[in-house]
Amino acid sequence: MTASELPPGATGIITIDLDVIAANWRALTALVTPAECGAVVKADAYGLGAIKVIPALARAGCRTFFTATPDEAETARRLAPDARLFALDGLLPGAAAIFSANDVAPVLASLDDIATWSAEAARTGKRLPAGLQIDSGLNRLGLSEADVHTLADEPARLDRVDLRLVMSHLACADDPTHAHNETQRANFDRLRAFLPPAPASLAASDGLMLGARFHYDLVRPGYALYGGQAFQGGPTPVRPAVTVEARVLQVRTLVPGDSVGYSATWRATRPTRLAVISAGYADGFARALSASSGQESGVVAIHGQRAPIVGRVSMDLITADITDLTTDVAPGDLATLVGPGLTIEAMGHAAGTIGYEVLTRLGPRFTRRYVGGAG
Ligand SMILES: *Cc1c(COP(=O)(O)O)cnc(C)c1O
Repeated sequence: MTASELPPGATGIITIDLDVIAANWRALTALVTPAECGAVVKADAYGLGAIKVIPALARAGCRTFFTATPDEAETARRLAPDARLFALDGLLPGAAAIFSANDVAPVLASLDDIATWSAEAARTGKRLPAGLQIDSGLNRLGLSEADVHTLADEPARLDRVDLRLVMSHLACADDPTHAHNETQRANFDRLRAFLPPAPASLAASDGLMLGARFHYDLVRPGYALYGGQAFQGGPTPVRPAVTVEARVLQVRTLVPGDSVGYSATWRATRPTRLAVISAGYADGFARALSASSGQESGVVAIHGQRAPIVGRVSMDLITADITDLTTDVAPGDLATLVGPGLTIEAMGHAAGTIGYEVLTRLGPRFTRRYVGGAG
């Protein structure tokens, strides 16, 4: 966007293209058909705003949504009254009543979860919908092998559960050569055979790239819908949906020897032009993107030209070396933090983390602007 379009007083802006998110969902659907493609919208749709993203995906045709927590599930129910909703984190204390009141299927992950959900079913006098998570080798949430055998021996434990999904989650799906993928797939098949028949789901964004054997009845992408490219086996059929821009506040001129920022970690070795930009670690621009003298770390773009971060990233501000830019930069211009040529993956890599963390940490001080999404 152009600087003059920014709302008054805005330090920076995240532009979220709802049409791209919808197109990404359609592209993943085409890839996995006849399996169904759901959408993971936990953590406020990966920080992009569930309130806009869920209706846009529902309009595109998405019927099944996954949240993590009860709060998120309640919000999703308001936004998608007719959708199938699953909550991935199982049953937090007090959550069962919230889920049953909102027609949300918790993904039960332990025998205790099953007992709690069955008690809620008895209280409401109905069989209640749920998913079951089997741990197939991630050792995060899910029924253990022993739990699965208990259920096979005591099937009455599931009498009050309307079983809508049996699922598991992959540990190494970003690496298509990793042997753990096949190990988990085999464990999933072996263990779910002990359970009552139900639709199955194993793959998230990366898992669905591993081929049809991993698709089962339903895939659960989150990151890829928002344009994330974590899969190491090659590009996935999605496009970035997010750009992040922040205002240039000042342009300074330094002489050789001048230092920049806290702890004076970077020093000019030539006459230098410096842009001071209104975003910092409180906005999700990681402090790890700081650069001492002689180091390369974070990078932004101004007028489409790359400018390296110099000195420390502070809470509200970053400083970029614009000496080599061929254009004049003025206060009020926009610096691109995420956008063409500046992917969330690259930023995550430079910060020693992953694009998922970049996306979900973009802070509340940015104005969020939505484009597209009309239908
Ligand atoms: C977060 C999550 C997903 C979505 O993962 P992506 O990598 O963002 O596609 C799917 N399933 C489970 C269990 C998750 O926790």
